[in-house]
Amino acid sequence: MGRSPRILLSIASTALIGWTAAALIQGNTDISQQNTLNVDVCVIGGGAAGTYSAIKSKDLNKTVVVVEQQDRLGGHTTTYVDPVSNTSIELGVAEYEDTSIVREWFARFKVPLYQYNITIPGVTSEYMDFHSGQIATPEQGDLFGAWDAFQTQVARYPFLDYSLDSVPFLVPADLLLPFGQFITKYNLQDAVPYFSLYGEAWGNFVTLPTLLAIKYFPPSFFNPATLYSGAPGALASKDNSLIYEKATKELEPNAPLSSTVLSMDRSAAGLVKITVQTPSGKKLICAKKLISTIAPLIDNLKGFDLNETESPIFNKFRGHSWYLGLVNTSGVPDNVTLINYGINNTNNFNIPVLPGVYDIFATVVPGLHFFSFGGNDSQPSFTQSQVKTNLQDTLTRLRATGSIPGSSEAAKAFNIIDFSSHTPYEVYVSSEQIAKGFYNKLFALQGQRNTYWTGAAFVTHNSAAIWNYTDQLVTKMWSEGQSTTALSLS
Ligand SMILES: Cc1cc2nc3c(=O)[nH]c(=O)nc-3n(C[C@H](O)[C@H](O)[C@H](O)COP(=O)(O)OP(=O)(O)OC[C@H]3O[C@@H](n4cnc5c(N)ncnc54)[C@H](O)[C@@H]3O)c2cc1C
Repeated sequence: MGRSPRILLSIASTALIGWTAAALIQGNTDISQQNTLNVDVCVIGGGAAGTYSAIKSKDLNKTVVVVEQQDRLGGHTTTYVDPVSNTSIELGVAEYEDTSIVREWFARFKVPLYQYNITIPGVTSEYMDFHSGQIATPEQGDLFGAWDAFQTQVARYPFLDYSLDSVPFLVPADLLLPFGQFITKYNLQDAVPYFSLYGEAWGNFVTLPTLLAIKYFPPSFFNPATLYSGAPGALASKDNSLIYEKATKELEPNAPLSSTVLSMDRSAAGLVKITVQTPSGKKLICAKKLISTIAPLIDNLKGFDLNETESPIFNKFRGHSWYLGLVNTSGVPDNVTLINYGINNTNNFNIPVLPGVYDIFATVVPGLHFFSFGGNDSQPSFTQSQVKTNLQDTLTRLRATGSIPGSSEAAKAFNIIDFSSHTPYEVYVSSEQIAKGFYNKLFALQGQRNTYWTGAAFVTHNSAAIWNYTDQLVTKMWSEGQSTTALSLS
């Protein structure tokens, strides 16, 4: 878990007083009127897209409820606050593109933004093969030139700038290439370390459809030349969880945390009925509209009354696994960041052997490093204990080869003091599906059955892009004449 226990306790003790609103229960016999809530919109998932959807609807004077399975809002934003120094360490979302939507969203909560610095003074990066324990010395190519060349390619596909809703029916052949082939075709190899750093959670990213890679690195993405020179271009808050804490306070008691959807009925015009399991029992939500913001994998849509159009679409999605943790006494020097480099994986741009630890980053708090761990396509999820064992084995190998100081025995001494699962992550579909018009079918669902869909699977894993898409989706959703018809934002 990230941090946030102070908010959670306040929610739990509020006992969901809003649920006593007068009810219009249609055919649901086992839930009392006292446990029924009538609202304009029910939002499933309270991460970046869900929190934005809820607050935007509230600001448009709509009544709203957010159903969130975790014990806090924020999704992939998870902040650890060091109790000694009171310093925040982001174990999830760290920085934002400098766009008007980001500035307006933070200003909405009166949370100041600062220029983000990717580097920590005095910290150096060392490349090692975590699988063999060997030190690696990769050649430093012309990253900035390769990035510019990549962006020249990106500019050929402006329909990907906004969301995935404008993917043409006839998809350009280059976009269907595995990204590794696209990199080779356009001589972009020198940008691979940057692709690897920001795209590490994709696992074997060289197999990802190029369309999704280009969507992930749009023209507005952090330019490495800007980022590494410290020039303005990326924003961050001193504590990225603050907007979610403030949003929770505004939404309560209508943000039931630790809650999941049990069943749903979207068959009536203008009414969605959702039965939800909350810590204080089953509740019935009657909403005019539903916004789903969760990763739309079929397993994650449990409780949804998916029909014969929706199921085959969501069935195509696959996800990756990604876990982050904070460790102390790892033995890695405070001024060193370790990056996993697959020395022998030369055919695949030296991406690391997976499942495995991607990197072990220095933080601003002495003694603390954070690490990230990912699986491969055949292993979808891991327990914290499995991740810990892998990290332990990694540190043992690095010590045995002398790549980091300390005895192999000492590698067992570290503690994981914070851990967060970001699985499923990078929800994707194959090139074959994209070629068959997957995204046209997906976006044709907008507005059908009083339901609207947003989140990373519809845009990409970029907070600014998600907020931008969600802002327009919610605005159009509440505009006249859009309530029951399919919605096109293109
Ligand atoms: C480690 C990490 C670092 C990142 N860093 C950055 C960054 O620096 N800058 C940036 O712009 N982007 C970053 N991203 C990407 C960004 O966080 C995501 O794109 C964004 O959070 C996705 O928002 P979302 O609303 O689609 O999903 P999420 O934020 O994941 O929200 C989904 C929410 O739904 C909940 N949920 C899921 N299933 C259910 C269910 N069945 N029932 C109820 N609730 C459910 C989840 O608990 C979660 O709270 C990062 C992501 C990760 C994982």
